[in-house]
Amino acid sequence: MPTFDPIEALAAARHEFGEHGGVNMSIEASTTFTVMDAEMMPAIFQGRRGPDEAGGGCYLYGRHFNPTVYVLGRQMAALEGAQAGYCTASGMSAIAGALLQLCGAGEHIVASNTIYGGSFALLHDFLPEKTGIRTTFVDITDHEAVARAFTERTRVLYCETMANPLLTVADLPRLAEIAHTRGAKLVVDNTFTPLIVAPLQHGADVVVHSLTKFANGASDIIAGAVCGTNEFIMQMMDLHRGSLMLLGPTMDPRAAFEISLRLPHLGLRMVEHSRRAQIFANRLHEQKVPVIYPGLPHHPQHALLRKLGNAAYGAGGILCIDAGDLRRANAFMELLQNKDRFGYMAVSLGYFDTLMSCSAVSTSSELSADDLKRAGIPQGLVRMSIGYTGSVEQRWSQLIDALRTLNLVR
Ligand code: PLP
Repeated sequence: MPTFDPIEALAAARHEFGEHGGVNMSIEASTTFTVMDAEMMPAIFQGRRGPDEAGGGCYLYGRHFNPTVYVLGRQMAALEGAQAGYCTASGMSAIAGALLQLCGAGEHIVASNTIYGGSFALLHDFLPEKTGIRTTFVDITDHEAVARAFTERTRVLYCETMANPLLTVADLPRLAEIAHTRGAKLVVDNTFTPLIVAPLQHGADVVVHSLTKFANGASDIIAGAVCGTNEFIMQMMDLHRGSLMLLGPTMDPRAAFEISLRLPHLGLRMVEHSRRAQIFANRLHEQKVPVIYPGLPHHPQHALLRKLGNAAYGAGGILCIDAGDLRRANAFMELLQNKDRFGYMAVSLGYFDTLMSCSAVSTSSELSADDLKRAGIPQGLVRMSIGYTGSVEQRWSQLIDALRTLNLVR
């Protein structure tokens, strides 16, 4: 079990009072900041002064650094065991910002072929068309194929700790070694596994998050974060060449404040998401329903997750059921939402209620039929983000009832 304890690190980072000694941090809603001495302004523009300790805690303009967003960034850095972190307006802008900072025009990325559809489209379509940054997609569990995909121009190896939607777990220490021996950085999306896995502790260089999901937990805010070295975060905020500074996906300080109120119970929520997902996965497997869940002993990366993960937070809140085909997947979700009130037919994850979507026609629909086949994503795969409302037995009876109605229990 890793010695790094993200909950202890977060508790230490949260000891930050608001104005007037408030137990919550204050919302600094200003977009611009005064300097008391005119000489300070050029010093900030030249990077001699800045928001960090070395820079004397000087702020300039809200798209550069905002104190409230900066505090949330420090809390995310603590959770991930990073030197620094900064938060963005979405998970996609965190991913795009990190990749654009690490890769120049015409350079190359090696990426897992099983990642969130938006990330896939960014790498597969947008970046090559707009920047000439090309990506080779590989099966991230085939380490020889990963190594073979590198070229002299490869700057980044990109994957998700636990892949969307198939829940494949990446062998981060092995991937870090492959990337580092070839002069590239390992960038990991840890959206599915906050607290469960801390990728930087296993060799990753940069961690990105969609805070929209588990981290926030209420499906009411779109947000993202990038964590890494202080140098890297400062590069992204550079006035001349910083991807976040110049593309401007700035998080609103009010959103940062809201999220900071939810991080303290992320641990409790992850424990309960995982506990319920594990119970349902065990029972579904016993009923011979085709279920994917990394907490099941026969999952191909079950042992790896136990090695990399913090067991206290379980194997995550997502499970997938293969309903066989799209028609049955749709009927299953409709029944679960409209008759049984088990959860909602909606994309996203990490909400307190259960969210269900058929990946091939929703959050992985950016992949072509061939890409879906290569990634091994079946047409009838229903991804479920298991919520913690209602009782376990109430939700189980709703789930099994729908499966029986559609003859999905063998
Ligand atoms: N990364 C993963 C693994 C996701 O599932 C998603 C969205 O579903 C994103 C990134 C994008 O995050 P956002 O919607 O906050 O931009």
